[in-house]
Amino acid sequence: MELHDFDIPPCPDCGKEKMYHLCVSHVPGTASFRKNGWYCKSCGIGPKQLGSASEAEAARFALVLLNK
Ligand SMILES: [Zn+2]
Repeated sequence: MELHDFDIPPCPDCGKEKMYHLCVSHVPGTASFRKNGWYCKSCGIGPKQLGSASEAEAARFALVLLNK
C-alpha cells in the first residue's frame, strides 16, 4: 500500500475535487475513530469512506509508519 498512488476521488455528493481526509483517532472502536474519513470542503459532507482502503487499514498503516 502506497499512499502517493492513491488518487483523491471527487466528492460523491457535489462532484467537486475538494475532498480531504481527516484522521481523528487511530484507535478503532472509539467514537472519534468513527469520525475518520473523507470530508468535502465544498459542500461539507463527511465522513465518507472512499477508495479501497478501510479506515481500519489506514489506521494500521499509519501506526506502521509511526513505529519505523
Ligand atoms: Zn461535496
